[in-house]
Amino acid sequence: MDQTYWRKCGSCKKEIGFNSIYQACSVSSCTKFAFCSVDCWDQHNPIMNHKSAWAEERRSPRKEEFVPESTSDAPRRIIVGAKSAASSPSSMEKEILIVASKMKQYIKDKHDMNTSGNVMEALSDHVRFLADKAAEKARQEGRKTVMDRDF
Ligand SMILES: [Zn+2]
Ligand SMILES: [Zn+2]
Repeated sequence: MDQTYWRKCGSCKKEIGFNSIYQACSVSSCTKFAFCSVDCWDQHNPIMNHKSAWAEERRSPRKEEFVPESTSDAPRRIIVGAKSAASSPSSMEKEILIVASKMKQYIKDKHDMNTSGNVMEALSDHVRFLADKAAEKARQEGRKTVMDRDF
C-alpha cells in the first residue's frame, strides 16, 4: 500500500504529510505521537497529565526515507546511507534550539501575530551565532564555562 501521508495528528487525526513541520511532545514516552499544530498538542497535554512538557517542532521524514511501522512482519528494509551523522557533535548545527510553542505564544500574546514554522530555524541560527561569540569570549578569558556576561 502506498501511503500518501506520514502520520495522523494525535488529536484531530488530520493527516501530516511527508517532509513537513509537525509538533512533537517533549516527553520521551510520548514521542510516538505527532501533532499538526501546537493547539492539537495542547489538547493532548491535560489528557496525558504531563507535569512539564512542551511542543517541539520537528520535520517529518521525506517519503523516500519513510518505512511504515505496520510492516513489522515483513523483512525490514535497511536504507543504506539514510543514517546521517546524527550523533556527531556538529549535528547541533542544524537543530532547532528554540522552544517553538513558547516563542509562538510570546509573539501571539505580545503582538497578536502568528509565527511561521521556519522562524525557529532562523532564530536557532541567531542563537548559535551569539553562543559562538560568547564561547569565544570565555575562551579568551581562559574560562571553560560560558557565562551570562559573555553575551
Ligand atoms: Zn491536529
Ligand atoms: Zn505528551
